Amino acid sequence: MQAWVVDRPGPMESGPLRRVERDPPEPGPGQVRVRVRCCGVCRTDLHLAEGDLPPRRPQVTPGHEVVGLVEARGPGAERFAVGDRIGVPWLGRTDGVCRFCRRGAENLCLDPGFTGWDLDGGFADACLADERFAHRLPEGLTDEQAAPLLCAGIIGYRALRAADVPPGGRLGIYGFGGSGHLTAQVALAQGMRVHVLTRGARNQDLAQRLGVDSVGGPADPPPEPLDGAVLFAPAGGLVPVALRALDRGGTLAVAGIWLSAIPALDHATELFQERRLRSVTANTRQDAEEFLGLAGRLGVRATTVGYPMAQAQVALADLADGRFSGAAVLHA
Ligand SMILES: [Zn+2]
Ligand SMILES: [Zn+2]
Repeated sequence: MQAWVVDRPGPMESGPLRRVERDPPEPGPGQVRVRVRCCGVCRTDLHLAEGDLPPRRPQVTPGHEVVGLVEARGPGAERFAVGDRIGVPWLGRTDGVCRFCRRGAENLCLDPGFTGWDLDGGFADACLADERFAHRLPEGLTDEQAAPLLCAGIIGYRALRAADVPPGGRLGIYGFGGSGHLTAQVALAQGMRVHVLTRGARNQDLAQRLGVDSVGGPADPPPEPLDGAVLFAPAGGLVPVALRALDRGGTLAVAGIWLSAIPALDHATELFQERRLRSVTANTRQDAEEFLGLAGRLGVRATTVGYPMAQAQVALADLADGRFSGAAVLHA
């Protein structure tokens, strides 16, 4: 089979990925081998390819929004049948025994394995998954539609809850890519007023089409104070901007795994009045199950642009340059 690997992390122009020939991996106990049909392209894949995120294993295969069919089962793997369609997400495994796993915060596990970072992911013809961490996908969604839900959707959902917006409250979304456009749909369906602050005419147009309450540039003040906000753009410079846009007691949740430097904060205008700043780290399986169920019921639809698997580096470069709106999906 063919698989992309992170060969020499660096700018996309330098071609950091390489496509190699490998034997299909044999599933171990509790694992399944998934024949990849689609894999979404997440900003984390870009951070890994460009070296912002240090590789945790040399020659790892990126991709953690994997939609495919169970092709083989390892010893004891019984949750899915051969031929079932499943999704393989970012949270690939946990140790299950650390103090965080025991208190139900497995997203903070001390010894986790992330798909496409520690474990080979879906930029390949096949990959392995621990069946306990894979998900069934909403029916009625195509593979291309379902792929972006598996990280962009799930992490966005956790970030939305972290922003702690009350029913009918006012939400700000900073950065409107794969995750932002899915999160906005959940927030609107739950009755929030949604203000999108983003650069790029394509992203702004997509926000308008989804029916959000206002659209502005990233540095613009929203038309009303925010009860909560989510920062999806990997731009630390927007942290003080978004904090100033919060109402008293509001929360800013930083959704991404990587953020550029945050400037010094001014206590009086950016933190006082009990404004809160928090990060979001991975997700629990419960977040994933909740979101996937909601996405099916609420009719959350990803706006996608498809690429053949052979064009993985083109898709990443297009993501880096903001050449599409919504989410890119590779087709095996
Ligand atoms: Zn743990
Ligand atoms: Zn991701």
